[in-house]
Amino acid sequence: MLAVEEYVEIFTQDDFRSRQSEMREILEAISEQYLVGDIGITTKNYVNWGIRLDGTICILDYAYCYNTTFGTFKCSCDDTSILQYDKNFVDLICPKCGRKYTFGDIRRRITRKAQEEEIGDIRRIGYNITKPDEDVTIVKEFEPEVKTKEKKVNKVDMIIKEYHKHKEEGKIGTQDWDNPN
Ligand SMILES: [Zn+2]
Repeated sequence: MLAVEEYVEIFTQDDFRSRQSEMREILEAISEQYLVGDIGITTKNYVNWGIRLDGTICILDYAYCYNTTFGTFKCSCDDTSILQYDKNFVDLICPKCGRKYTFGDIRRRITRKAQEEEIGDIRRIGYNITKPDEDVTIVKEFEPEVKTKEKKVNKVDMIIKEYHKHKEEGKIGTQDWDNPN
């Protein structure tokens, strides 16, 4: 497993209060495609946000993140009403009847099978290692694409290499560089 990490300073309550418009901007972009939980704008969630070294903000915790293609975000009142986040991205609201759904309500609708389809079977599409030190058989599809680049040969390097070769073979001094061979 390869982990890509960065240092992030966790939000203080002051950060939470002063940076809500930036949080909202990020949540708006994410919610176009994903249903996310535990990162909406409430005092309950502010520790799931942080500040990067460059001063921009980011989310620290994507524990619950589902692709909205699930089609499970409809209200029971009407099959055509698609639930929408409230302005703080905490609960979902039916635009037709106004019924409020918590993230938990929605998550309960997602079956384990659907969750597995969303994540994919990592036991099947990756190396399954059970010991700290283990040899695996390389599966070509898992490996990064290997591109064989034609190595540029440096002319000076080639001459030096040839010189050393001749030196090793004891030919140095007898080689006529103007008339090779
Ligand atoms: Zn409704």
